[in-house]
Amino acid sequence: MSRNSELFDRAAKTIPGGVNSPVRAFRSVGGTPRFIQRAKGPYTWDAEGTRYIDYVGSWGPAILGHAHPEVVRAVQQAAENGLSFGAPTEAEIEIAEAIVARMPSMEQVRLVSSGTEATMSAIRLARGYTNRTRIIKFEGCYHGHADSLLVKAGSGLLTFGNPTSSGVPAEFIQHTLVLDYNDLGAVESAFQKYPDEIACVIIEPIAGNMNLVKPRPGFLEGLRELCTRYGAVLIFDEVMTGFRAGPQGVQGLTGITPDLTTLAKVIGGGMPVGAFGGRADIMAHIAPLGSVYQAGTLSGNPVAVAAGLTTLRLLGEPGFYENLTERTSQLAVGLQERARAAGLAFSADSVGGMFGIYFRDTVPTSLAEVSESDVELFRKFFHGMLERGVHFAPSAFEAGFVSGAHEATHIEETLSIAEEVFATLKSA
Ligand code: PMP
Repeated sequence: MSRNSELFDRAAKTIPGGVNSPVRAFRSVGGTPRFIQRAKGPYTWDAEGTRYIDYVGSWGPAILGHAHPEVVRAVQQAAENGLSFGAPTEAEIEIAEAIVARMPSMEQVRLVSSGTEATMSAIRLARGYTNRTRIIKFEGCYHGHADSLLVKAGSGLLTFGNPTSSGVPAEFIQHTLVLDYNDLGAVESAFQKYPDEIACVIIEPIAGNMNLVKPRPGFLEGLRELCTRYGAVLIFDEVMTGFRAGPQGVQGLTGITPDLTTLAKVIGGGMPVGAFGGRADIMAHIAPLGSVYQAGTLSGNPVAVAAGLTTLRLLGEPGFYENLTERTSQLAVGLQERARAAGLAFSADSVGGMFGIYFRDTVPTSLAEVSESDVELFRKFFHGMLERGVHFAPSAFEAGFVSGAHEATHIEETLSIAEEVFATLKSA
């Protein structure tokens, strides 16, 4: 039995499903997850010592590549000075200033420890600020695992959704309206039906949790306009896209200003950090200034903040995003060319350091379209690549991530391996 299999069996005895977050278990692709022993730059090594070119990137945080020496040094130095104080630090001010300086819409920011906490808190704040209860989310967008967000669309337009997890009472999601991504008409109808009841619209402004799906031209602009017209709070969940899709997130790319933004992943540089922030007049409703409660024992943890701050500083180096965008696009375009040359129905897309690959002819614009991809072909592709030393996300419904440590040679190596794998899919 392989070492990875041994570890998976052993893990399953004390950890449900053998993993601490479900997608790691390879359920949708089958097979044995690789237990990672160490990682450096674009590579991970598993428990058997096998090396992979890694496009999981810790699901987003590893934008500089793994274990960047300056980030590691910052973490070590911070740890020497104490792991956690439960009192404010200067470094927290520095990271708040760094975030506010970079993200166009954010005037103030509060740190938390995960993306889930960030979105949960932002929604509570939006409700507290507007004194309204209903929220709008979009099918296929993931905003963490807070109860009111674990919901999928109901059977018809403007029906409230169904829980996607047991343990979530129907009452907890009765205020969550789930609409189709890129369907502005549905949002308009929702506002017409409930003009004074919708507290917020929360969206991944470029979605990365149903594979990569971009907004159609005018969609985000339309959301901005409707939220302003009806007095609702527009929340951009940039947990994945923040400092990933571009140096100022999707709001920088599009010039659209949300009222609140949630962040995590990159801003922690691999350590547990999340954040929510935005307009100062809305943020003034958070405790201790206002009546919306939110808190955290480890919020602003000094070791985590040191990793995040150093990461943000390194991202500011000239040319970082230009290179990242170029490499990611080379990968997406190169995969598409090779797959099509092999006669496969395949398309790919990218933005900044994120990419999507789809076993269907055209780039999808909604969850329904993503769901039309050939999942079985993806499964074969994934395992073909993994066996040859390239680790993509183990699901057809996840975006992929390139880092600053992925150089042209890594992309070329990936593409020639992919060519080999596509040929096996064609003949299968
Ligand atoms: N929002 C988005 C857009 C995400 O991609 C994720 C995580 N994939 C979350 C929220 C939840 O973040 P976390 O896993 O840190 O709780």
